[in-house]
Amino acid sequence: MKITRIRVYALTLPLQVGYHLSGGRLFFDKLESTFAAVETDVGITGWGEACPWGATYLPAFAGGLRAGIAELAPQLLGQDPRRLDVIERLMDRALPGHPYVKSALDIACWDVLGQAAGLPLCELLGGRCEGEITLHSSIPTGTPGEMHASIERARAKGYRIHSCKLGIGVEADIAQIRSVEEARLPEESVTYDVNRAWLPDQAIQVMTATEDVTAYFEQPCETYEGCLIVRRLTRQPIILDECLQRFADLVRAQGDLACEAIGLKLSRVGGLTKARRMRDFCVQTGLRLNIEDTGGSAVADTAAVHLAQSTPETHRRATWLCHDMIDIDPAIGGARNLGGVTAAPDAPGLGAAPDLEMLGEPVAVYD
Ligand code: MG
Repeated sequence: MKITRIRVYALTLPLQVGYHLSGGRLFFDKLESTFAAVETDVGITGWGEACPWGATYLPAFAGGLRAGIAELAPQLLGQDPRRLDVIERLMDRALPGHPYVKSALDIACWDVLGQAAGLPLCELLGGRCEGEITLHSSIPTGTPGEMHASIERARAKGYRIHSCKLGIGVEADIAQIRSVEEARLPEESVTYDVNRAWLPDQAIQVMTATEDVTAYFEQPCETYEGCLIVRRLTRQPIILDECLQRFADLVRAQGDLACEAIGLKLSRVGGLTKARRMRDFCVQTGLRLNIEDTGGSAVADTAAVHLAQSTPETHRRATWLCHDMIDIDPAIGGARNLGGVTAAPDAPGLGAAPDLEMLGEPVAVYD
């Protein structure tokens, strides 16, 4: 089997509600998503999607993603898309780094493999595991009143795990945590996700003042080293997210006992091939995972759900579905929010594809 053509599509995804992150430093009201169709000489077409959470969240942006695909796509023509590790090495040699550029192409190749094998991706990623996938909400930074309103909206959709975005300042964040905890239902669990906004001294003050709270704290500081200082001087479980990009970052974090869980986002690490390897390391060494993507429609979300579905229930924490926050739905099929849980589709391959009428004409074609 050979790749004969790659089509690239761009689509703007408006958010239902404007979103403040990282103590309000970053604001988002729409996302720029990119879809890749990998066509083959046997008539199978695989789909992938990658969508940075705006340009300010990670070193990733839509224009860079499409420029990177222009470098990589011509080199994938003629390759067998089912050879995922070969494709991975080819892309890493052709364009070192830039993991977010590779994600949509990698996912599309996995979709081809799944369709060719007649199996859903979760079976190829290790096998479907027991249990539904628990979802978590994403609660933007705001006043305590705004945050409660967001949590109420998430509850109405079935969410019982909430990722509340903090990072305003020491006193305000302590007050925010107290306010959320007071209103927390017994069956609910909360992550306080700082998205790098604290310096170590602020993290230590907030986390020490709220030591009685049963919660996770996520990515307190910008750098890995900052997070490690916080790890060593506080007691609550820590999730590392943005600072883990390469497999080696994860190995170092576990060697340093830097966290109890990680946020594994497909496009941040370069797609399913690399994410699966990191997932396997976490399962083998005892780290819990949130498995999701950085953004996108149900196409990108479904790739992450397949990886979550093939992860033992003991090691899964939750999955965030970006498409549940988007005002349009360009996906046909795929994993959806079913009252706070989801499941990987049974259809062969990804089991999700974009609606071509909504995508319009491709922004690039490589053949
Ligand atoms: Mg996070």
